[in-house]
Amino acid sequence: MQINLAVVKGDGIGPEIVTEGEKVLNKIGEMYGHTFTYTDILAGGAAIDKTGVPLPDESLEIAKKSDSVLLGAVGGPKWDNLPGNIRPEKALLGLRGGLGLFANIRPAKLYDALADACPLKPEIAGDGIDLVIVRELTGGIYFGDRGERNGKTFDELAYSREEIERIGRVGFEMAMKRRKKVTSVDKANILETSRLWRSVMHELAKEYPEVEYSDMLVDNCAMQIVRNPAQFDVIVTENMFGDILSDEASMTTGSIGMLPSSSLGSTSLGMYEPIHGSAPDIAGQNKANPIATILSCAMMLRDSFGLMKEAECIENAVAKVLDDGYRTGDIMDEGGKLLGTTQMGDKIVEYLKK
Ligand code: NAD
Repeated sequence: MQINLAVVKGDGIGPEIVTEGEKVLNKIGEMYGHTFTYTDILAGGAAIDKTGVPLPDESLEIAKKSDSVLLGAVGGPKWDNLPGNIRPEKALLGLRGGLGLFANIRPAKLYDALADACPLKPEIAGDGIDLVIVRELTGGIYFGDRGERNGKTFDELAYSREEIERIGRVGFEMAMKRRKKVTSVDKANILETSRLWRSVMHELAKEYPEVEYSDMLVDNCAMQIVRNPAQFDVIVTENMFGDILSDEASMTTGSIGMLPSSSLGSTSLGMYEPIHGSAPDIAGQNKANPIATILSCAMMLRDSFGLMKEAECIENAVAKVLDDGYRTGDIMDEGGKLLGTTQMGDKIVEYLKK
């Protein structure tokens, strides 16, 4: 398969971790007979420095023509005091919006070898944490009208039936590829949009009789993630709830340096990136953990290109490297063997086995 990727190396540790992701993809290409080509595009702080805007039109055009986008991270203190419309994060919104990406997928998985890094007690985490949060990304309160009216400041929360149905479907399809369980999270005891959400999700559930479906109120879900995370397979929820719950879930797995994510739309073109930021405190020091980026590449192979074996090959190599005690600084434990960013990438490449 020939796969053309648009790549945002970005700021801070971005270039270091993306290099390791490409290294792993290249080896997978060699092993399974695929060719990856990479076109670097400017976005974020680096784009502001060179062009004055966070997402030049040319970058979006190249991204649109690509098969998928791989992104490191954008932002940093250098650009913190710029006005809102030219902040580096605007590039992420521009790419998601411009590419029609409405679903944000964030798996949270606790590796056996990193069980000690989990802040939950072993009797709670012991049953395993392996869940995915499917978050609606382009609607809800983050995209509603906002302003001031009659002496009050407001943010509008609105959802259409279509917006709910398309994200709900992503959740059910995801569950079909996993343990066939969907928990739909809302606040239907209070919010009108949540009542619509619930009714659309119930209709969808009828199309997926194999999937075990349940509703959960968002406050209860926040509690259940730290009380009994093993109960969850796929959590589907709206934009703001998903933003908050996915950060909570990610912390149960120890380090944000481990967690991949994707943003998907209605075509196979997705954007794949680690959940963490540009970590300016460790940038340029060969200290960053590249695993979140490498696992994002695995997600890309599975979700955009249907390359299941190749994705599994990467995930198995990561698990094996961790089992054998190799660690970057953020996940270092007693007896661990400390590696830098480049060495961790090399080690994972070495462990890739068909
Ligand atoms: P951050 O995720 O960059 O860093 C938080 C902490 O985690 C830091 O101590 C950092 O060293 C550590 N860390 C993060 N990734 C790591 C990795 N791969 N390996 C080892 N340690 C890692 O969050 P922040 O400090 O709040 O934000 C820094 C910048 O990143 C800000 O400008 C922010 O706006 C931006 N940001 C970008 C994205 C993105 O590009 N998607 C996401 C979040 C934050």
